[in-house]
Amino acid sequence: MTRRKKMVERVTELMDNPEHIRNIGIVAHIDHGKTTLSDNLLAGAGMISEEIAGKACWMDSDEEEQARGITIDASNVSMVHEYNGEEFLINMIDTPGHVDFGGDVTRAMRAVDGAVVLVDAVEGTMPQTETVLRQALKEGVRPILFVNKVDRLINELKVDEMEMQIRLGKVIDKVNKLIKGMNEEAYNNGWKLDATEGTVAFGSALYNWAVSVPFMKKSGVSFKDVYEKCTEGDMKWLAKNSPLCSVVLDMVVRHLPNPQDAQKRRVPIIWQHGTKDTPEGKAMLTCDPKGPACLMVTDISFDQHAGEVATGRLFSGTLRRGTECYVMGTAKKVNRLTQVGVFMGAERIEVEALPCGNIAAVTGLKDAIVGSTVTTLMEMTPFESLKHYSEPVMTVAV
Ligand code: GDP
Repeated sequence: MTRRKKMVERVTELMDNPEHIRNIGIVAHIDHGKTTLSDNLLAGAGMISEEIAGKACWMDSDEEEQARGITIDASNVSMVHEYNGEEFLINMIDTPGHVDFGGDVTRAMRAVDGAVVLVDAVEGTMPQTETVLRQALKEGVRPILFVNKVDRLINELKVDEMEMQIRLGKVIDKVNKLIKGMNEEAYNNGWKLDATEGTVAFGSALYNWAVSVPFMKKSGVSFKDVYEKCTEGDMKWLAKNSPLCSVVLDMVVRHLPNPQDAQKRRVPIIWQHGTKDTPEGKAMLTCDPKGPACLMVTDISFDQHAGEVATGRLFSGTLRRGTECYVMGTAKKVNRLTQVGVFMGAERIEVEALPCGNIAAVTGLKDAIVGSTVTTLMEMTPFESLKHYSEPVMTVAV
C-alpha cells in the first residue's frame, strides 16, 4: 500500500471516533510565528515534506497574501499524531495573523474547540493577542499557550538562565490575566494556564524544538539544556531531543477537548436561541452521528475542479454524497451534496460518509454563504451570527 493510501485509511478511521479528534486553531499577533509553527507541525507529523515546510508556505497560497506577505485565507489542514500509543486526528484551521481580517478569526473559532495561543517571548502579548484570545473565549474555545522565539530571548537579548525563566513566567502571567479578565468563570474552572500541568509550552518554531514541563520530565531535557544549547548554537540537539511537533501536539491532545466534550459546553453558547430538547439540540449536545445533520459554514472557497467548496463544522449527524440539505434563511430549496470530503494534510479527500465532530468540506450547497446554518431538517433555529470583537488600540505593521 502506498504511503498516501495508508494515510487516507488512518484519517478516515479516526474521523469516526470523536474521542480521537481535536479541532484546533493557532491564534497570534502578526509576525509572532504562526505560519512557521503551522508548517513545522505539519512537517513534523509527516503530512508535508520538511523541505517544503517554511519555504512553500502552503497556507500562503493566495496572490494577495503573497503580495502583502500576510496570511488572509483561512485554510484547513489535518495531522495524525500518536500520543501514549494511540493515534489522534488533529484538524487545524488557519487563522489570519492580520487585524484587518479579524472576521476570519471569528469564523475559524466557530469551527474549533481549542486554540493554541502563540506569543513571541521577546515582544510579549500584543493588542492582537488580546483580540484573538477574546474571540476564542467568546466562542467557548479553550486556550493553551505556546511561547515562541525563546532562541531570540537567549541569543539576541542575552538574558541569563534565571532571567529567561522569569520572562517566560511573565508571559504566562499576562495571558492568565487576560483570560481571567475576559472570562473569570472559565479561568476559575480549569482554564488558568499552568506550566507545571502542561498547558504551556516554550520553544522555537523556527528551529523546530519546544519544551513543556511534562515533556521535560519524560525526556530529561531541562531548561539548563535549552539555555546551553541555544547559546552554543546547537539547535539541532534540541530539535532531536525535544521536537516541536511532539511537544505541541502532545499538549493539544492532552489538554484540548474532543468534540463530544466540547459540544456539551459550546452548543449553548453558539446556539443560544435554539431549544435544547429538540432532536437537533440533543444531537448537537451529544455529537450524535445518527441525529439530524447540523453544519455551520465557516468558509467558502473556489476549487478549479470541484467548484465552490463550503467548509464548516459538522455538529451533528452524518453527511454523504446525495444528502439533501436546507440552508436556513433562504427559500426552502433542496441543496443536494455532490461531494463530501475531509482534509488530509493540506489536501481535501472525498469520503463516503462524514460523521459529526469533524470539519467538513462539501460541494453542492449552492445557497450557502459564510455563516450559513445548513441542516437536513426543513427548519431549525440558526447558529448565533459571527461577531467580531476588536480592541480599542491597534498597532498594525504591514
Ligand atoms: P506569522 O505572521 O505569525 O505567521 O509569523 P511567521 O511564521 O511568518 O514568522 C515571522 C518571522 O519570525 C519570520 O521571519 C520567521 O522566520 C520568524 N520566526 C518564527 N518563529 C521563530 C522562532 O522561533 N525564532 C526566531 N528567531 N524567529 C522566528
